[in-house]
Amino acid sequence: MEPTETVYGLGANGLNAEAVAKIFAVKGRPADNPLILHIADQEQILPLTTGLNENARALMETFWPGPLTIVVPRSAIVPDIVTAGLDTVAVRMPSHPVAAALIRAAGCPIAAPSANVSGKPSATNARDVAEDMTGKIAGILDGGSCGIGVESTVVDTTSPVPTILRPGGITREMLEERLGAVEIDPALNGDPALRPKAPGMKYRHYAPQAPMYLYEGKEADLRLTQAVLRAQKQGLHVGVLCDDTVKERLEESLRRGHTAEILSWGQGKPDLAEHLYELLRDFDRVSPELIIGMGVDEKGLGLAVMNRLRKAAGYQILLAEEGGITVKSGSGFPEFLLVAEE
Ligand code: AMP
Ligand code: MG
Repeated sequence: MEPTETVYGLGANGLNAEAVAKIFAVKGRPADNPLILHIADQEQILPLTTGLNENARALMETFWPGPLTIVVPRSAIVPDIVTAGLDTVAVRMPSHPVAAALIRAAGCPIAAPSANVSGKPSATNARDVAEDMTGKIAGILDGGSCGIGVESTVVDTTSPVPTILRPGGITREMLEERLGAVEIDPALNGDPALRPKAPGMKYRHYAPQAPMYLYEGKEADLRLTQAVLRAQKQGLHVGVLCDDTVKERLEESLRRGHTAEILSWGQGKPDLAEHLYELLRDFDRVSPELIIGMGVDEKGLGLAVMNRLRKAAGYQILLAEEGGITVKSGSGFPEFLLVAEE
């Protein structure tokens, strides 16, 4: 188990099929969800692939070490279990000094998915790893909290136009600046008819136990505030996911002795990315009846955090614009979430 700059990873020798099988067993990870191989030096990718094209080389040069995973053609030494039988392999070179030192000491690529039980939010600190993994693994290397907090960006370099299969710490804008045109896998917006190219993106992931609803749009903060006040009047035990500004406003408006569990990520997208998983796990500790959250725009890190937040909410999303509240996706919303007060 090792800290990286993104989230904690559950590691094993990536060229040893038996060791890798244990990762799948411990996480309860579906066998069709391939793993990322982590390396400590650029040259370590060479034996893993049959060839790197110009895009792959440009990405490695610009963003490694860092929170970017590239999908490249696999070589025969990569076990089938790592790639889930695909003819490509995902490779990343983390920038976290502890992760890099561990990979160097191991002397082999380390297969390392996020160190959570499949379906739960990823772990971004040693306590959250311990919660999921105690008794199941050899040990935890505690490197403190992860700075970025969302998983690496996964880019397929084998498609004609490089394609983002999972948004993450390296933003779309950063990739476009280096490569020119970049596509985003259209399946990422939650349309159940589309099949994501990164197999793992199809799973319900990142989900807290309580049902979660999300307000997006310009007036998300206003509508969220109003909804929480109504929930409190109805005696509901609500969880609220918001930023510091909204939290302060809510605490002023709610009467003393209120029971709302208001968890703030701080201020701005980097704070949201850093704390999102921890907060989702914290909701499970306080067991609200439902969680109401607010979204941010999709610029920069917004694309990655909104991808995770929407999944966490099971795509139960309301759009709050000047005209009022409309359903963006999902169904069966509690009535009180749909009321647009003057
Ligand atoms: P995690 O291990 O939790 O960080 O998830 C790794 C992500 O990378 C999952 O969404 C996988 O489906 C995706 N992935 C790994 N290898 C490949 C590959 N060869 N092609 C496409 N996606 C991949
Ligand atoms: Mg994961």
